[in-house]
Amino acid sequence: MKIKKFSKKPKNLNERLGAKPIICYPNENLENENLKLLHNARKYIEKINEVIIPPRDAKTFNVKSGNFFRIESIEGPQVGDLNLFQANNLDEKFYSGKTRALYGTHISVGDKMLSSFPYLRSLATITWDTLDWYGYDKDGASVHDVIGTRCDPYTSKLLSGDDYHYCCHSNLSRALAKEKKININDAEKIVHDVLNVFMLTGFTNDTKQYFMKSSPARPGDYLEFFAETDLLGVLSTCPGGDCGSEHSSDVAKCYPLKVTIWNVDKEYLNGVRLSNISSYNRNHGLAK
Ligand SMILES: [Zn+2]
Repeated sequence: MKIKKFSKKPKNLNERLGAKPIICYPNENLENENLKLLHNARKYIEKINEVIIPPRDAKTFNVKSGNFFRIESIEGPQVGDLNLFQANNLDEKFYSGKTRALYGTHISVGDKMLSSFPYLRSLATITWDTLDWYGYDKDGASVHDVIGTRCDPYTSKLLSGDDYHYCCHSNLSRALAKEKKININDAEKIVHDVLNVFMLTGFTNDTKQYFMKSSPARPGDYLEFFAETDLLGVLSTCPGGDCGSEHSSDVAKCYPLKVTIWNVDKEYLNGVRLSNISSYNRNHGLAK
């Protein structure tokens, strides 16, 4: 936090302060006709599968390229921590930091969930968000953030000294280990920073610390995605429940979440451009 000031202010303070902000990653180039086409296609989607994630747990789900999926609130306000992998290559996974750099602190309709290096493509595009009316409130808070990481037992231990086993990191690790039949230690190494679905968060004005508020999601709310490649999703129901009080404990009231998978006839996807893995030649300046 930049609240302790040990150094002296420079004499030329005024010429150093107040430069105009420049958007680091203008993202207009990523825009295409997809959203318009997908908004038409979603009128014809048909449900083909659903998975219920019990409270303080996680489950995996598979989505084929060209299908839609939804994360739905069903019994009460509940935050979900989402990991996404390319189904056939777990090395390609959701890259929360770069998604944030391109789209800001919270994501919604039209934004793409980018994958890690050296792939860097859109794994999925958000096509509908029943909470998009929320926007940003007076505290700068919004829903579906890519600024938090995932609650985890290591930070919990560091801050409270307790061993708690149902943080999102552990839930995601258990579900992934079961799905891929791998060791829990290997699974937790590929669990990554999440999309915090339904979580209402921001940074405080004074210290810029990460804060959370009670989620405005209610049963019937959902966030909908279009899969741009075959996906393995892992979703944890956060032990923080609606994240209005605390997490990393059994204190908060928690609810299940539902994931639904939807197919659409290919004819409705005519013209939709799926993103490809990066064509950067990976030379990194080593060879001519
Ligand atoms: Zn959590």
